[in-house]
Amino acid sequence: MSQPENARGSTVERAEGEVVDLCRELIRIDTSNYGDHSGPGERAAAEYVAEKLAEVGLEPEVFEAHPGRASTVARIEGEDSSRPALLIHGHLDVVPANAADWTHDPFSGEVADGCVWGRGAVDMKDMDAMTLAVVRERLRTGRKPPRDVVLAFLADEEAGGLYGARHLVDTRPELFEGVTEAIGEVGGFSFTVNEDVRLYLIETAQKGMHWMRLTVDGTAGHGSMTNRDNAITELSEAVARLGRHEFPVRLTKSVRGFLDELGDALGVELDPEDMDATLARLGGIAKIIGATLRNTANPTMLGSGYKVNVIPGQATAHVDGRFLPGHEEEFLADLDRILGPRVTRSDVHADKALETTFDGALVEAMSTALKAEDPIARAVPYCLSGGTDAKSFDNLGIRCFGFAPLQLPPELDFAGMFHGVDERVPVAGLQFGVRVLDRFLDAC
Ligand SMILES: [Zn+2]
Repeated sequence: MSQPENARGSTVERAEGEVVDLCRELIRIDTSNYGDHSGPGERAAAEYVAEKLAEVGLEPEVFEAHPGRASTVARIEGEDSSRPALLIHGHLDVVPANAADWTHDPFSGEVADGCVWGRGAVDMKDMDAMTLAVVRERLRTGRKPPRDVVLAFLADEEAGGLYGARHLVDTRPELFEGVTEAIGEVGGFSFTVNEDVRLYLIETAQKGMHWMRLTVDGTAGHGSMTNRDNAITELSEAVARLGRHEFPVRLTKSVRGFLDELGDALGVELDPEDMDATLARLGGIAKIIGATLRNTANPTMLGSGYKVNVIPGQATAHVDGRFLPGHEEEFLADLDRILGPRVTRSDVHADKALETTFDGALVEAMSTALKAEDPIARAVPYCLSGGTDAKSFDNLGIRCFGFAPLQLPPELDFAGMFHGVDERVPVAGLQFGVRVLDRFLDAC
């Protein structure tokens, strides 16, 4: 620790005050990402972040990959710049929200019932605000991190990052020179097991994806006549087979690590063959954990035909396929077997799975920082069912963790907040996150 505990305490208090305003202001900047440039873009948010960083003496740069689609990057000099650097990344875009469905306007950043409400409150303007609050306070009081820290506030994560992380990694890799490790979404949130144990899930792995288009060609013809080669019938059967298919359970290192820790916390031996019973104990996060036990393929779009009395010559469907680290080949072979020879499968978007080990000094720093702020904290590894900008940073050989520390009340359906209606983050959770991040930066 570079400062006496009491000096640290008072400055962290100021950051705890600021984080709420930063989060609200970021939410009020609508950065909805429709995936097709029809949204407002991230430029205003990127400039807002740049201004907040420049105020405390950094020299942030704003990069615009496409008109309006901007990201901000800055580097903080550490005590020892010869050490490899740490990247802290967060995305600035959010998925769209339909205001009519919400209790509070999704772009108002309202504070009610102890929470900041709005689109992005947990995904992930919360972490953007926590990072800004901690960094600003540390720079104001001259508390350098032990090594260089690169900050990246990114566009376009919600549509795969082509105009954000992937763009910067591909065109400006020098921004991340010397970076070997990173933290970002989705991890560091709490799951209260009982009064003695609160697990904090650190993301050490994430599934890979194949977003696929399925096509069947058949014989076109009149809807009144016999047709044994109807593309819609063929495709529908294949889609139904796939949608109902239960892929086999494959316990990866991260999932096994999580289940071991969970079993230990619950004081029971968890049976990997009886996952339903295990998942039933997890409440809301079962949706995430359940999807990391096996590969998955969910049909999401169907399209074909143009008139009721015309049999079309082709039918198409789209499927969201996700595979576990180390199980891509098995996944593709299973798909082909289930779909059968009539279906042609092509990727509309594909990306790799990631997995790192749950060990080393950085993991130790996360665990220690959590424990210092929550005596019943236990940091555990887990696999994310979705994908994040970490996939892009992995291309630079950076070891990525999901660590955006947040203490949550047990009753909050955290997984349901992601892209959900009434997305909100507890104020106390944000302030907890600020304290943990600050300690983490002392020890990183
Ligand atoms: Zn996100």
